[in-house]
Amino acid sequence: MRLRNVRGSKEALEASAYVIKNPMEYKGRWSELFGNSYPLSVEIGMGKGKFITSLAKQHLERNYIGIEKFSSALIYGLRKQEELALLNLFFLREDAENLTEFFAEGEVEQIYLNFSDPWPKERHAKRRLTSKKYFERYAQVLAPNGRLEFKTDNRSLFEFSLKEAELAGWDVVNYTFDLHHSKMAEGNIMTEYEEKFSAEGNPICKMVARQKGNT
Ligand code: SAM
Repeated sequence: MRLRNVRGSKEALEASAYVIKNPMEYKGRWSELFGNSYPLSVEIGMGKGKFITSLAKQHLERNYIGIEKFSSALIYGLRKQEELALLNLFFLREDAENLTEFFAEGEVEQIYLNFSDPWPKERHAKRRLTSKKYFERYAQVLAPNGRLEFKTDNRSLFEFSLKEAELAGWDVVNYTFDLHHSKMAEGNIMTEYEEKFSAEGNPICKMVARQKGNT
């Protein structure tokens, strides 16, 4: 995603208590930060944050962490959170590549990936957040009954992701190539990208996956 640099965003993130600067120190004890043991959900590549802020507002009985590697995107999520002041939402300005350094085994109950960068060139396939290598990372931090949900308008990335999930030993428990006209649409929260692409007439794909052998 090409983003215009937002002047002052790095400094604003640095100064905010909603952005956790030392996530490694919370590994295995995020519940201490939230002050409760509610289930933890993580959105990776949250962009401007509409999805995770809306979800956190709807589910005060769950905890949320949004991960975004670019300050110029995360600053928009931070502004939303500064207005809402939700006690169940924090952000990391980090690269998801290091996910297993931030979360202990089984610490995360739900992972959301929304409109992840497609990295269309074959030689960049390993960078896709739904490559086998990433599914293996997610398996390390997800609880045994944990789930991953992935949405995209990119049909070839979606088909690639279905295959990679299988290769990584996951079960795809539900999927659709047209979310907004499917039963999976119930309770759907649109992301910024989803609003844009569906307004242009693109169908949205969604899959739900969990590790094999888990209910
Ligand atoms: N999820 C948002 C939405 O649906 O509107 C944003 C989608 S945008 C195409 C993808 C976002 O993922 C970008 O903001 C990008 O910076 C972020 N991203 C990509 N790779 C990442 C990584 N390895 N770690 C953290 N964020 C990442």
